[in-house]
Amino acid sequence: MSDRGVLTVISGFSGAGKGTVVKQLLQEYDYGLSISATTRSPREGEQDGREYFFKTKEEFEKMIREHQLIEYAQYVGNYYGTPKEYVVQQLEQGKDVILEIEMQGALRVREILPEVNLIFLTPPTVDELERRLVSRGTETAEVIRERMARAKEESAYMKEYDYVVINDDLDECVENVHQLIRSLHYKREQQEGFIQKIKQEFEKR
Ligand code: 5GP
Repeated sequence: MSDRGVLTVISGFSGAGKGTVVKQLLQEYDYGLSISATTRSPREGEQDGREYFFKTKEEFEKMIREHQLIEYAQYVGNYYGTPKEYVVQQLEQGKDVILEIEMQGALRVREILPEVNLIFLTPPTVDELERRLVSRGTETAEVIRERMARAKEESAYMKEYDYVVINDDLDECVENVHQLIRSLHYKREQQEGFIQKIKQEFEKR
């Protein structure tokens, strides 16, 4: 295995089940998860510092000005962003880090950290996407309409992603994502340290 952690972004339509997939990945395996900052209000049961760092618009804009974020985006009227320090620290300690962020942000991470791996998670059909959004029961009909409209726009960007994983059966999806991330350790870029080591061993002979 390579020394440095692998950085993976998981995006997908709102309602694709990203939250559930990521939660299960963290329960079953030893991943570092970046906790985002957002200006949206906490949903019932959400805690500051666990699901998100909940910020005011002023606080968030200060983080932007002070370059504390790897990326940020506006999504349905709110800011969302990824604090930089924690992610970099975890990767350097050899931990694989997952960012669960929407598309604009994902593509921006790739501009800043080109080694990132972008995974797009999608339900098997658009009807199923809508059904999941409705059955979540946390959003108003208006927000569901906005999220479906946004999903339609986002579908045009699926082709920018490195991997597309279908979330039909949850356990199967979690396993597929985990195996995919494991295999990323064997990419040549990820093995630069090992390649150097082998070279040095030859030089010593
Ligand atoms: P929600 O309000 O449902 O928690 O999240 C809305 C969207 O914002 C989701 O697609 C989620 O992946 C995305 N999101 C969460 N955190 C971040 C972040 O740090 N940066 C960006 N760009 N998007 C985020």
